[in-house]
This record gives sequence, C-alpha cells and structure tokens, in this order.
Amino acid sequence: MVPINDFRETLRGTLIQPHDKGYHEARAVWNGTIDRHPAVITKCAGTADVIAAVTFAREHDLEIAVRGGGHNVAGTAVCNDGIVIDLSEMRAVWVDPRTRTARVQGGALWSDVDYETQAHGLATTGGIVSHTGVAGLTLGGGIGWLMRKHGLTADNLISADVVTADGEFIRASDDEHSDLFWALRGGGGNFGIVTSFEFALHPVGRTVFAGPVFWAADDTADVLRFYRDFARDAPDELGTVIRFGTIPPLPAVPEEFHWRPAIAINACYAAPVNEGERVLRPLREHGTPILDLVSPKPYLAHQGGLDSTVPHGWHYYWKSTDLPELSDDLIDVFVDHAFSAESPRSYSVLFHLGGAVSRVDHDATAYTGRNSPHNININGVWRPDEEEKYAESETAWTRRFFDALEPHREGVYVNFLDADDGTPRVHESYGEYTYRRLAEIKTEYDPDNVFHLNQNIKPTV
Ligand SMILES: Cc1cc2nc3c(=O)[nH]c(=O)nc-3n(C[C@H](O)[C@H](O)[C@H](O)COP(=O)(O)OP(=O)(O)OC[C@H]3O[C@@H](n4cnc5c(N)ncnc54)[C@H](O)[C@@H]3O)c2cc1C
Repeated sequence: MVPINDFRETLRGTLIQPHDKGYHEARAVWNGTIDRHPAVITKCAGTADVIAAVTFAREHDLEIAVRGGGHNVAGTAVCNDGIVIDLSEMRAVWVDPRTRTARVQGGALWSDVDYETQAHGLATTGGIVSHTGVAGLTLGGGIGWLMRKHGLTADNLISADVVTADGEFIRASDDEHSDLFWALRGGGGNFGIVTSFEFALHPVGRTVFAGPVFWAADDTADVLRFYRDFARDAPDELGTVIRFGTIPPLPAVPEEFHWRPAIAINACYAAPVNEGERVLRPLREHGTPILDLVSPKPYLAHQGGLDSTVPHGWHYYWKSTDLPELSDDLIDVFVDHAFSAESPRSYSVLFHLGGAVSRVDHDATAYTGRNSPHNININGVWRPDEEEKYAESETAWTRRFFDALEPHREGVYVNFLDADDGTPRVHESYGEYTYRRLAEIKTEYDPDNVFHLNQNIKPTV
C-alpha cells in the first residue's frame, strides 16, 4: 500500500487522486487526443514539493511524468497509473531590469514571461503561442519571433535550478555542472526537473511592426518564390512564419475572409517601426494580397495573436521536419499538399530560422538544426466532436504531406515530435554525435532513466 495520505501531508501544494474533485481537469493536457489516468497528480507549490515528489515516487516505484505548460503534442506531461509532478502553479517571474535578466519558475507560460518583461520594454525569444510552457520549450531549444536577432530561447539561458533523479537540488550554468547545462539546452526533460530558469533579456521595446499578410491559396507558388529571395536577404530583426491553411475567424479578420484558404506570411519586426515599414514594404506590395494586417502593435498583442487559433482540448496530430532553402521542387510539394486537408482547422507552419540561431557554435548546446533555414510543422486539427468526421482524413493528410517532403528532409526539431514518431526520430533529431554525448550525460545524472516520459535519451548502461 502506497502511503499517499502521509505524502499529502508533507506537501505545501495539492495532491489529486482519481476520486478527487478536479482530477479530470488536472489530467487534461493541450492535445485533447491524450487521455491518460495517473494515480497521483502533485500540484507543486515550490521546489520543496518537487523534491518531495521525486523522492516519494522513487521510494514507491511510481512512473514519473513532469508537467510544465502541458503543451507537448505527444502528451508526455501525463502518464497512466504513475505520478504527474505538475509545476503548473509555479509560474512566478522575477525581472531585474538593471542586469536585463529574468528568473522564471518551471511551470510558467510564455504569457507570464512576456507580461513581466514587457513592463520594462524587455523580452527574450519565446514561442509564437503564448499559452505554451516555458520549460518544455526552452529545454528542447525554443524557436520564436525574436530568434534570428537574439538566438534560441536556450541560447538565452544563463542558469537553471534542477531537481535531479536522486531528489538532489543543483544549479547548472557555464560554471556549475556545465555538462548538464549543455544538455539542458536542447536535450529536453531527460536530465531532471527544472524548478527555475534564468534568462538574458533584450531591449525589444513595447511596440513591434507586425502581423500577417494573406494571399489566395492559388498564389502559393508565386508567393513562395518571392519569399525565397526576400527571406534570404532579410535582416535579423525580421522574424517570419508562413501559415498555410484557412484564415482563422480572428477578431481582426473581416467576416468575408473567415475560413478562406490562404497562404499567410506572418511577420514581426522587433526594431524601430519605421525601419520595419521599409523592410516589409516589398513583401506587402508583392502580387495581390487579399488581406494585410501588418501594423505597429504591442509586442504582447503579437505574442498572443495566434493563441485562440490553437485552443486547449482540440485534437491535434503533428509531423515535422527541418527543411533547406525553398527550391522549386520543394515549392511544388507545398502547392500539391498544403491545402488538401479536409478539416478547415488543419494547417501547417513554416518557420524561418538562420540569423543568430545559425551563428552559435553548433557544439555549444545540445540543440541541433542550426544549419537548416526552415522547419515545418504540419498540423492535422479537428474538434473533439469532429472525431468521426476528421480523425482519419487529417491524420492521413498530415502523413501524406510529410511523406512528400521526404526528398527534402534535413532533421527534426525535437519539440515538434508527436507520440508515434518514436525513438528513431529522437535519434534523427540529435544525430549520432550529439545523441551519444547526451546519453553519457544522461548516464551520469539519471542512470535509471527515471525521467523517460519525454523524447527519451537512453542511458548508456
Ligand atoms: C500550439 C503550440 C505552439 C508551439 N509553438 C512553439 C514555438 O513557437 N516554438 C517552439 O520552440 N516550440 C513550440 N511549440 C512546441 C513546444 O516547445 C513543446 O510542445 C514543449 O514541450 C512545450 O512545453 P510545455 O512545458 O508546455 O510542455 P509539457 O507538455 O508540460 O512538457 C513536455 C515535456 O517537457 C519536459 N518538462 C516540462 N516541464 C519541465 C520542467 N519544469 N523540468 C524538466 N522537464 C520539463 C517533460 O519531459 C515533459 O514531458 C508549440 C507547441 C504548441 C502545442
């Protein structure tokens, strides 16, 4: 018999079991297809609870899942039968504007970080959807609007406080446990539970020149050929993400455009607005845009602009790959597949990397993929009440599109792997050299693979 009640008494946070109120809300993650039933969910109030939970789980041989923002598409933040060590109530953010740094608790979301840092006109690279967790995103690398100027999120990590598989509390930085610090910047949740992150911040200001320009789906080939040259010469201050799909019914979108198939180039120029106007003019004047929503706007508004398009609880199926520059053959794949999904909610996004991401020494962190100028995330999407109608067609569309990209594939961003991608794609993500180095560090910090519900690096013993 596991002495749950004794454990409950030791915690400052809340312990939730299947018969408790709130259990079903607490076990739900962003991807509504994930339906797991843990025996215990520990909503930690602080680091002491995390240490207590790791110690308790190990003493009683409970499988551990670790939850930050709960956003991972593969649903690794929740398990069946075991314990979820849930940091979602540890969301504090402390900003020091003098040193331009922030300390962020391990369950914070990007909206928490953006809100606190923007009070000082500061920011660091975060995800393009602000209800994503800081922890999972940072530990996988972290790509977003600011990365071409300021690097990956992981490149901005100064230190991390970690509870190890032995329940020990340590700090990892360039000066302490530097091997672990290297592994945490790309190696995911394999090495311990991060209770707080310290980030470098940058003077981004509160206003950016940003938003999407839409063209009809039929213009895809022409727009991508133009974009190929435009992106190659773009300054680091410009972040762009291309979205293929129907136009979501956002408040800023006039009703006549809702659900029309379109290619959108969404931009964020994080420097003076007048410069952004000049840099983005050729893009906005290219061809015949059907809708142009680029304008000066609060950085916070742009960061949250896509949030409602990917709500919690819908059903999602993903496939992703890194890609080279957009050759004519590759553009043909987009033309043939990007708009053939059946669900109007399915879409794909193509990120533009390069800039500061590619200038960091490739051995400096465990993130791979610095050589690839793009990565794509193909997202089959349907609502829970549309399971029968779309589950099969959208899964098939996602796979078909992904398969057609096969001749162009270059690797994969570990944070975009779905549950069925499995071990071979974890290897694909890291490549042999980085995987081997990660496995050695895993062996040192977690030889029993206690933290294995993730994109798993196996210890070498
Ligand atoms: C809508 C959407 C948009 C996205 N956009 C971007 C984007 O713009 N850029 C980008 O880089 N990625 C993006 N992602 C991917 C995102 O980086 C991953 O889904 C990431 O895992 C989310 O982190 P989380 O903390 O919310 O995840 P969770 O599901 O909570 O956790 C995922 C895994 O991370 C580990 N983990 C979580 N918290 C901790 C912790 N405190 N300590 C140690 N390990 C921990 C665990 O192994 C866990 O299994 C997006 C995802 C979604 C769903």
